[in-house]
Parts: sequence; C-alpha cells; structure tokens
Amino acid sequence: MPAVAAGKVLVSGTSGFLGAWVARTLLEKGFSVRGTVRSDPKGEYLKKLFASHEGNFEYVIVKDIEADGAFDEAVKGVVAVEHTASPFHFNAEDPQALIGPAVNGTVGILKSIVKYGSEVKRVVVTSSIASIIVPVTKHTVFTEKDWNTVAPKEVEEKGKGASAGHKYQASKTLAEQAAWKFVEENKGKISWDLVTLCPPFIFGPIIHEVPSFESLNTSTLELYKTIKGQRANEDLVKPISSFADVRDVASAHVLAITTPEAGGQRFLTSSHTYTWQDWLDALADSGLPDIPKGVPGGGKDVPRNTNFDSSLAKQVLGLKFHSIAETAKDTVVSIRERGW
Ligand code: NAP
Repeated sequence: MPAVAAGKVLVSGTSGFLGAWVARTLLEKGFSVRGTVRSDPKGEYLKKLFASHEGNFEYVIVKDIEADGAFDEAVKGVVAVEHTASPFHFNAEDPQALIGPAVNGTVGILKSIVKYGSEVKRVVVTSSIASIIVPVTKHTVFTEKDWNTVAPKEVEEKGKGASAGHKYQASKTLAEQAAWKFVEENKGKISWDLVTLCPPFIFGPIIHEVPSFESLNTSTLELYKTIKGQRANEDLVKPISSFADVRDVASAHVLAITTPEAGGQRFLTSSHTYTWQDWLDALADSGLPDIPKGVPGGGKDVPRNTNFDSSLAKQVLGLKFHSIAETAKDTVVSIRERGW
C-alpha cells in the first residue's frame, strides 16, 4: 500500500477549475507541484497565483494529452501523480472528441509512469459520478460498486446521435475502466497503486484563469446561469444532481495520495443532492445582494431518486464536506470579484 508524505507531485490539467485547487491544496500541505498546462501564459498565471509557494511550483507544457509519450518528461522525478486533465463539456458532436483525450490521456500518463516514473508510489485518476450513474425511476443510492453501463452502450450504438450527457459520461466511464484494466494488466511491472475519485458536479470558488464569464468551466457556468436568473421556475425545483465543494474534492485528491489504505480503491465524493432552488435559498440567507428569489423552499420536498453513498471516502480518507451555504456564498463571491 504505497502512499506518500512529501515530495513532488505531478498534477495534469492545473489550468482547470479543479486542477488549480488540487495544486494549491498540495502546496498548502507542503508538497512541491509540477503542473501540466497547454501554454506558457497559463503556466505563468499559475506561477503568480502560487507566488507565496515560490520554488515549490513549476509547470511543464503538455499541449495534447492524447499524443504518444505526452507525459514522458513530466513524470520524471515525481512521487505521485494526480491526473485531472480531461475535457468536460456538453458541446461535442463527435463523442470521440471527449472519449479520445479522456481514454488516451489516462492510458498515456500511466504508460509514461511505467517507462519514466520510477519514483511514483501512488496515482490518482479524477473520474466522476458520470462513470457510476444510470437513469433510475425509483429512490436509488449509488455506491462505488456501480458502473455506468448505459452511456458507453448508447454511444457505441448511436455515435454522434447519442445525448450530450451520455457522450461525456461515456468518456469518463471508459477512461476509468481503462485505468483499472491497465493496472490489472501491468501488475508485475508497477510499484505504485491506483486510486480513482468519483465526484459529482463540483462548485466552489474559482481560482484558475478565466478570461470571461462565457469561458467559465462547465459546472460553474451552470451555477452562474442560476444566479443570473436564467432558469424558469419549473426548472429551479427539479432535482438536478449532487455536488461537492471544489476544496473538498481537492482535499480528497491529497488524502488519496497520503492515505496508505486508499490504494486500489474507488471513492465517491458526493456531498448533497440539489435542485437549483436550493442554491438560491442558501444564497438568500447569505446576505449577498441581487440574488434571484425563484420559488423559495420549492425544491425542499421534491423527491430525489438519484442519491450517493460517500461513507467510504469519509471512513478511509477522513473526508469532510462544506455545507451548501458555504459553497454557494464562496462561489458567488469569487465570480463577482471578477466583475461578472
Ligand atoms: P476544466 O476547468 O475544463 O479543466 C480541464 C483541464 O483539462 C484543463 O486544464 C484543460 O486545459 C485540460 N484539458 C482538457 N482537454 C485537454 C487536452 N486534450 N489536452 C491537454 N489538456 C486538456 O474542468 P474541471 O471542471 O476542472 O474538470 C477537471 C476534471 O474533473 C475532469 O477530469 C472532469 O471530468 C472531472 N470532473 C469535473 C466535475 C465538475 O463538475 N467540474 C465533476 C466531476 C468530475 P485548458 O485549461 O488548456 O483547457
């Protein structure tokens, strides 16, 4: 059960919403971080963001996570790897635009570790509840034992005609399955173990570079639409999904490399289910001005069929979660600080 307590950690996708928080949390815990970004300006932004950790943050350019050997240099000399980079959006016409980088990026980084990551003890792959959930018609509690069997099948059968959600879900399911298969097939060759983390929708303060509100990451943009009053009342009170605070998901990434018992396990990291109205209600009590009222209390008793059990992450990782009130307020403050 190899785990790490100190040293340099590779974080792929550091320019992203979650990746930036994973890097920051590692730095705050005393690790050094090597982040991958697609361009120098993105790396320089992060260097400034982490200026108080001078000397402990460096970046390397990985333009395309799908390219052969993309991570060969990046993995040299690191003790752990946090692979967060993967496209998350619902705009792909061709599902391969998501599946290609998700699967080949994951297998590619694992291959680079086998070849050049001789000091690596622990690898964490950021998966998602997308690789767990299937549509349900009655109250269901999903756990780490569940796999999304629906989305990959739909994408295989319908290709470009599959739903946007299923294209993304297939990319996360196939990438996570490829990671576990890689470990199984390379058992004799590797001296590290794998942890996968399955967060639901992630919200929380944004610290990464975002040039305009239109280019907010997918999950933050959804919350932004809600606070801008862009949702019909009937949509505000529908059960949407479940969420976790980005700071908690980042903590889970750190705990996943420092907790010996976490090795070889898959963790659900879900805090609460929600309707969009729940966010407006939480914000109504926050004292922040100009928050739409929506249908106060309207989401409270709405039946929520899709539920998640995160007790394994709480027990093994000791993971704790922010409340919706804290996440809501801190997210909106961080968006408004940017003038949006
Ligand atoms: P994000 O802000 O869009 O960040 C994605 C990161 O991946 C960025 O650094 C992006 O680089 C990089 N990336 C994407 N495609 C790439 C490619 N082909 N080559 C090189 N780099 C690439 O998304 P996020 O919300 O932080 O998501 C991070 C991870 O968490 C993903 O694996 C996602 O599936 C997972 N996740 C997210 C949520 C959520 O609600 N946000 C929920 C569950 C799981 P650029 O900055 O250059 O684009």
